[in-house]
Amino acid sequence: MKAQTPTSQPQCRHCTVPVDDGGDTCAFCASYVPPETAAQQLDVAVNRIDLLRHDVNAVLRELPTDAPLWAVADVVTGLGHLRQAAVLLDRANDVLEADAQAVRR
Ligand SMILES: [Zn+2]
Repeated sequence: MKAQTPTSQPQCRHCTVPVDDGGDTCAFCASYVPPETAAQQLDVAVNRIDLLRHDVNAVLRELPTDAPLWAVADVVTGLGHLRQAAVLLDRANDVLEADAQAVRR
């Protein structure tokens, strides 16, 4: 750890790049948009699961009446787990979003 910037040079408060326009944020950080938050990604995942549930429900409805009972039972069970996954991810999303709101205030 030898390289040190002179303490007289103002630095960006986000990335410590030297700033010489009198502000405390460099041009990059001023316009930087961070990647999607975990909450947003979970929201997308929940939407995908809902689409998947819709598709599997359609498969279930189209199964012949003489389809093997265990196969039908497994599809129904899988649908139940997908629904539960959506509920859990949605709940996590709500908590993360509330947490992010609290930090922003
Ligand atoms: Zn910066």
